[in-house]
Amino acid sequence: MIYFSTNKSSIPVSIKKATLEGLAPDGGLYIPSEIPHFSDEELLLLEGATFNNIAFAIAKKFIGGEMPLDLLNDMIEGCYPFETPIVELNKQTFVEELFCGPTLAFKDYGARFLARLTGFFAAEEEKLITVLVATSGDTGSAVAYGFQGIPNTRVVLLYPSGKVSRLQEQQLTTAGGNVHALEVKGDFDDCQRMVKQAFIDHDLNEQLTLTSANSINISRLIPQSFYYAWASLQIKEKYGYNDPLFSVPSGNYGNLTAGVMAKRMGFPIGRFIAASNANNSVTRYLDDGRYEPRPTVTTRSTAMDVGNPSNFARLKYFYGNDFTSMGKDITGTAVSDEETLTTIRLVYDQFGYIMDPHTAVAYRALERHRTDSHSNNAGIVLSTAHPAKFLEVLQDALDKEIEIPSRLLNVLEKKKIATVINPDYSELASFLNGL
Ligand SMILES: *Cc1c(COP(=O)(O)O)cnc(C)c1O
Repeated sequence: MIYFSTNKSSIPVSIKKATLEGLAPDGGLYIPSEIPHFSDEELLLLEGATFNNIAFAIAKKFIGGEMPLDLLNDMIEGCYPFETPIVELNKQTFVEELFCGPTLAFKDYGARFLARLTGFFAAEEEKLITVLVATSGDTGSAVAYGFQGIPNTRVVLLYPSGKVSRLQEQQLTTAGGNVHALEVKGDFDDCQRMVKQAFIDHDLNEQLTLTSANSINISRLIPQSFYYAWASLQIKEKYGYNDPLFSVPSGNYGNLTAGVMAKRMGFPIGRFIAASNANNSVTRYLDDGRYEPRPTVTTRSTAMDVGNPSNFARLKYFYGNDFTSMGKDITGTAVSDEETLTTIRLVYDQFGYIMDPHTAVAYRALERHRTDSHSNNAGIVLSTAHPAKFLEVLQDALDKEIEIPSRLLNVLEKKKIATVINPDYSELASFLNGL
């Protein structure tokens, strides 16, 4: 399998190069030259398979030639020692809980795979890789934990000061060792812009081998297709549904892009609902084909506060730049903060189930789609974070104490270590040069 850039003006590369580079030299995002397809016979063989069996079957098609298969299999076992539960709210509505990893958010799926793959390729090349990552909260913690202690790698993460929850900040700033945290006095788009600038800074790139762990890295996206495949097969086996909807709480649209890849691989998936908050540039594009990114707005579902989503380039590419064709697979819906809070309350009253605000956005979007389309198709809501990660919001929505898992409580006791910088590229450059 080879990988080429969405901007089409750099040469195609192997998965090793795409992983270690992150962003293509022409500024585009790497995509596989073709999406591998699972035949009906292959899908039949995956019936009853475990999550890791399915993950291995997919990874083999994308990475196979570049890594011995027994190592790839061990790597996957090491990535996902935790469960991926699918909870039934009612006979049509399911929640796929993607928060059972160490940082209690779905980004563990992508980050743990990326970290191990990067470590493997870096060792092969005898290089020290510096992973640079902009985070609105969950990415940074997943990357910090994913790469912590992985030989041949170190991590520098940039997060917007005051715009992540206290628990998230503790996760970002306490990993230590090969992980460094930068607290940027700006917003997430500032962090993302500075990271992009570092990648095109020739002097810096002569000194360091930089790579990205944002969802612009294709090796973070590939593993995110695993849980779509898993849920679609589980729902088919247990309930006989062939084309469930997936409602996806979206920020940078990496998660949704991975879903589109899983559908194209041939897994039994119907439509997608792109659920956004007030940062709705993609949902507006799906309405009229005009893409007009706006500055980021702060909401109660902070991990989705992205004004100009990076994976939109991949989505557009997959649909030949045609919004009507994209609209055949994806419905966009924006959900307000007020609706998010009411939804958390309603879902708790109706099912006794506690959702985090991002999951609530996706749940509300699914309900709205059902009303608008007068249908009641099976729907899977992707639950991207454990509610305890967003206690401030949960306290406003519910009059109830939330139980905090012990692995979160432990992190609260640790000492925060971060370097504060202005949203100014030269400050990032001098930090990196001084490493
Ligand atoms: C990152 C994140 C999202 C958005 O995912 P994208 O892949 O960026 O669209 C949604 N919910 C939570 C909890 C997140 O951490």
